[in-house]
Amino acid sequence: MLEAIREKLAAGERLDREDGLFLLQKANLLDLAPMAQEVRYRHNPERVVTFVVDTNLNYTNVCDAYCTFCAFYRTERDNDAYTYSVDEVMGMIGTATEKGITTVLMQGGLNPSLPLDYYTRLVRETRRRYPQVHPHFFSAPEIMKMSQVSGLPISEVLGELREAGLESIPGGGSEVLSNRVKHKISRLFPKGRVDDWTLVHREAHKLGYRTTATMMYGHLEEDEDVIEHLEHVRSLQDETGGFTAFIPWSFKKTNTALDKRVGAEAGPNRYLRVIALSRLYLDNVPHIQASWFSEGKKTGQVALHFGGDDFGGTLFDENVMQEAGFYNRTTIEEVKTLIREAGFIPAQRTTMYEVVGRFDEAAPKAVEAA
Ligand code: SF4
Repeated sequence: MLEAIREKLAAGERLDREDGLFLLQKANLLDLAPMAQEVRYRHNPERVVTFVVDTNLNYTNVCDAYCTFCAFYRTERDNDAYTYSVDEVMGMIGTATEKGITTVLMQGGLNPSLPLDYYTRLVRETRRRYPQVHPHFFSAPEIMKMSQVSGLPISEVLGELREAGLESIPGGGSEVLSNRVKHKISRLFPKGRVDDWTLVHREAHKLGYRTTATMMYGHLEEDEDVIEHLEHVRSLQDETGGFTAFIPWSFKKTNTALDKRVGAEAGPNRYLRVIALSRLYLDNVPHIQASWFSEGKKTGQVALHFGGDDFGGTLFDENVMQEAGFYNRTTIEEVKTLIREAGFIPAQRTTMYEVVGRFDEAAPKAVEAA
């Protein structure tokens, strides 16, 4: 079977579900690396690994979705519930600009008290006060919530945000794109079915947005669900071409309602397999992100040899994973060093994956990776 898959890849043919399942379940892990790297260099021929200098802000933790995998949300009555004013958020962005950020990735809970005007002001004010910063705001479930609260269709909500200056949205809220999985992990099922996530991204792409696609695996999904997820991303990309990158990461269970229902968290072996599979399966997505953040710095470095060509963002402030007991931090210099140590040339990029600076000089002495 592996030989047949190799031949398909050499001929530039697309893998099917059966091939995907084989690679996920049965292929030798070390066979996957050279296959994925060959395809990676077809998409991104240079030995360059990109990263973005960004921060991750959360404007509210109030949410009425109660997802069982989430340690971040609070109800309006909780003592530590918060919703920042637009001015407060602008203050945080201002502080982050002192560290040289070019992107703010901002997401929040599905807060039923926030009007659409709050979100458009967040975008407009970011553009006005910090023109050097690209707002990468609001995942599909938040946009669905804006639609529900405002009574406007998704396309109009996206139109208003676009008018305010939003040009890209993150891929959060997909988890695993299989309704069977979504039924199990979102207790009240308010985050929408697979079709809702794809609808938001389809409409966004039609309006000229670029978006990322993500996948959070390692909870209640089966291997077949992972393949289904990749199928949804690949077929929407065939239709619109609007995805810039695919970003998988593993579920962190501490402090979540799923803690006792999920066994051991997925480890590096699974991550490397998923990264390689993603590169091989998603033949129409230009970039695969191998993160230093979610799986640890050493695993992130190894993933650059399993098909990843991007190292994600510096994520100066991150709260969602931290609530699940997961803490990891870096600096711009460390990101460059980690990329060099892995054997690649670091290059800073924009949110839209345009390279704005390459750092070709020789590798400095090694840093201790956590
Ligand atoms: S994952 Fe998002 S939508 Fe689900 S409970 Fe957490 S904050 Fe709310």
